[in-house]
Amino acid sequence: MGVKSLRLFNKFNIKGHKVKGSAFWWEIEESLAPVNDQDKLPLDAEFVIVGGGYTGLSAALTIARQGRLVLVLDSGLPGYGASTRNGGICSGQIRLSHSKLSHKFGLSYADEVYAEGIQARLDLAKFCAEEGIECDLQMTGRFTGAMSRADYESQSREAERLNEIIGHKAYMVSKADQHNEIATNLFHGGMVREEIGGFHPGKFFAGLLKSAQKAGVIVRSNTSVQDVVDLSPGKKSVITSKGKVTAGKVIIATNAYTGRQHRVGKFLRCRLVPVQSCIIVTEQLGVEKVKTLMPKLRMYGNTAKLYSYFRPTPDRDRILLGSRSFDRKEPTDRSVTYLKRKLVQIFPELGYCAIDYCWLGNVGFTRTQMPVIFEHNEIHYAAGYAGSGTVWARWLGKKVAETAMGTGNRPSTFYGSPPPALPFYDGNPWFLPAVQKYFSLRDWVKNAY
Ligand SMILES: Cc1cc2nc3c(=O)[nH]c(=O)nc-3n(C[C@H](O)[C@H](O)[C@H](O)COP(=O)(O)OP(=O)(O)OC[C@H]3O[C@@H](n4cnc5c(N)ncnc54)[C@H](O)[C@@H]3O)c2cc1C
Repeated sequence: MGVKSLRLFNKFNIKGHKVKGSAFWWEIEESLAPVNDQDKLPLDAEFVIVGGGYTGLSAALTIARQGRLVLVLDSGLPGYGASTRNGGICSGQIRLSHSKLSHKFGLSYADEVYAEGIQARLDLAKFCAEEGIECDLQMTGRFTGAMSRADYESQSREAERLNEIIGHKAYMVSKADQHNEIATNLFHGGMVREEIGGFHPGKFFAGLLKSAQKAGVIVRSNTSVQDVVDLSPGKKSVITSKGKVTAGKVIIATNAYTGRQHRVGKFLRCRLVPVQSCIIVTEQLGVEKVKTLMPKLRMYGNTAKLYSYFRPTPDRDRILLGSRSFDRKEPTDRSVTYLKRKLVQIFPELGYCAIDYCWLGNVGFTRTQMPVIFEHNEIHYAAGYAGSGTVWARWLGKKVAETAMGTGNRPSTFYGSPPPALPFYDGNPWFLPAVQKYFSLRDWVKNAY
């Protein structure tokens, strides 16, 4: 698959308007391609990393900066997994609220996790500044609309707790004041978290790739890793679609794109559920219009079980909205219609607007909905960011690299044993449609009363 072909991928018409079935962020595709990409693989490398998204490249950069030889292999084009398909919201949040996390694992663990989120996000900003990555990173704050009065109450309790952890700046906005945040009557007020922001995922990926290659990382695209077998203590053979490479250490960074076709993913795929998320981007609305709808130009979300996230594009000319997907591989008019309806529920006056882009991608969930970083059979893994990988994938990529090099001492709160495998599951999430229907019903019941 060539870079150019991605742009032509799946265009379709809705009411006579052409929708591009490719990510808005791919418009900068030339800078997304690795340099010196060849078919020929080196015979050996100290470290081989499987997967060239944020996790893989961040791990590779960390290792290369220690003067070690590192090879990144990607079955497609690096970055064209989730790393250039996401919404670009940089939260460093996890799925479970602080109160749910403390209830399950204890208060001090919840505090540690939320503190690491702050540390990881600050580290992302520092990294972009140090590397000179211009990716429109801005800490605009995020407003999360409450879908019910009960949600508003529980957000208020959460805000109080979060403010006790250094680095959090959370406050509530009542329904009466909501129009200062967003031009909608849909929500019952909501919570602002000032410290959260967003970036252009494609520009960030391009910068990360450039830094990694400049540090000496070798990147090979269109190279599927099929298996990793032991040769002798401390030596592995990495079997790929283009031949074998001898490796000292191997890191698996395939996350929600682990796939079911190769043995290499077997251990991870029984422990990680790939959930499709779909995004639309409107036609150009004009900066003034976007500012009328989103006066503070923040990142946005809501408290629904079938969560939607939305934001202005970095040029502030369009609105991006993401939520569940009806499709598994390519977007269709069904997903566009569903997401457009979500957009119009928030901003009824956008009923007229056309959708220019629609794409989907996979988000990886572990059973606990928490990211994981672990070692199994001398192979290192980082995965399971549950839709919040813009911060976590880079951070845990760095941490998994430190673990593999033996330089990290309890590198992260997420470091530990492999996550539990899901019963009766081999990587095919056959149960997702039923789960999504259940969540959708719960949202409907909540909004009806
Ligand atoms: C639609 C969508 C919206 C999102 N929105 C947000 C958001 O707003 N904020 C946020 O924080 N996060 C968001 N995310 C999540 C975030 O994008 C991911 O968590 C993050 O990009 C994961 O990076 P990664 O490097 O681990 O995985 P990926 O970027 O998916 O990279 C995995 C790579 O592994 C490669 N691979 C797989 N198998 C093999 C193999 N056998 N051999 C070689 N290579 C292989 C794939 O080709 C792929 O390139 C979103 C995700 C999606 C899909």
